[in-house]
Amino acid sequence: MLTPDIEGQKYVLVYALHAGSFYLPDKEVFEDSLEAKTGSQVPSFAFLIEHDVHGRLMFDPGLRKHGQGYPPAWEETLQEFTVDCPRDVVDLLEEGGVSPSSIRTVVYSHLHFDHVGDLAPFTSAEVILGGEAAELMEDTYPRNPDSLWQEFPAGHKVCYIDFETDQRGLSPLGSFNRAVDFFRDGSLYLLDAPGHFPGHLAALARVSTNKFVLLAADCCHNRLCYNPGHRLISRENYHDVQVARDTVQRLKIMDRTEGVLVILAHERERLDEMPLFPNSLNHRAQTQIGKKTNAS
Ligand SMILES: [Zn+2]
Repeated sequence: MLTPDIEGQKYVLVYALHAGSFYLPDKEVFEDSLEAKTGSQVPSFAFLIEHDVHGRLMFDPGLRKHGQGYPPAWEETLQEFTVDCPRDVVDLLEEGGVSPSSIRTVVYSHLHFDHVGDLAPFTSAEVILGGEAAELMEDTYPRNPDSLWQEFPAGHKVCYIDFETDQRGLSPLGSFNRAVDFFRDGSLYLLDAPGHFPGHLAALARVSTNKFVLLAADCCHNRLCYNPGHRLISRENYHDVQVARDTVQRLKIMDRTEGVLVILAHERERLDEMPLFPNSLNHRAQTQIGKKTNAS
């Protein structure tokens, strides 16, 4: 059960940005494809979230422009995952009239190359990560030339979510064990979504009366893994695959919960199904949630 709306409930506007795409081998996605040589081009979605008091937040800045500017340790991965990103999230925001310097908060679901983007233009942003990512950020590029994790540009406040001690904590929230009520008004929750990467986060945004969009990042990498859910996630692409499979089970329950629309970071079908920035997806999300509710 998700927390119901309260009197004077605050909502957020959610905008999806198609921040490039890349080739994702099937062996990284499905357990039944470990030997496969096939794969597909998938989008990397970034999300802008607007709150009328707390301002603008980015959930995952997506790919870096032309796939360039990453620590050299990513080189082999980048060759396999051929990045196509002629316009990055900063270009898209600026084309839509939003200056990256106006973004107050950048939440990283996790630190993989297709999510971190280029933080430098987000000059005013506090950076939020899952607590288990803190250890990785103690050993960053370029101080360690072999590190995959790029040092944050100077001047950013960085905050690691500790679900155990955070005063905004809730346990559980829906089918997920742990969450924080990020703005303390029930409009946006960050969810502990472990398994793919240390400290992996998802976000649950309240978009209208008892209706939510669940930005599930890389809980899984294909819709078929959560809806209908018959394809098992691959052991190749998950830090702790057993924990990740448990998280996918929780995601399946959320997907079947009335009023919730799940969107993965690389969910190809969403390219045709949802409006992209500068249009918000609030209205479409409400329509799709309505259809799902009627069908069930
Ligand atoms: Zn990803």
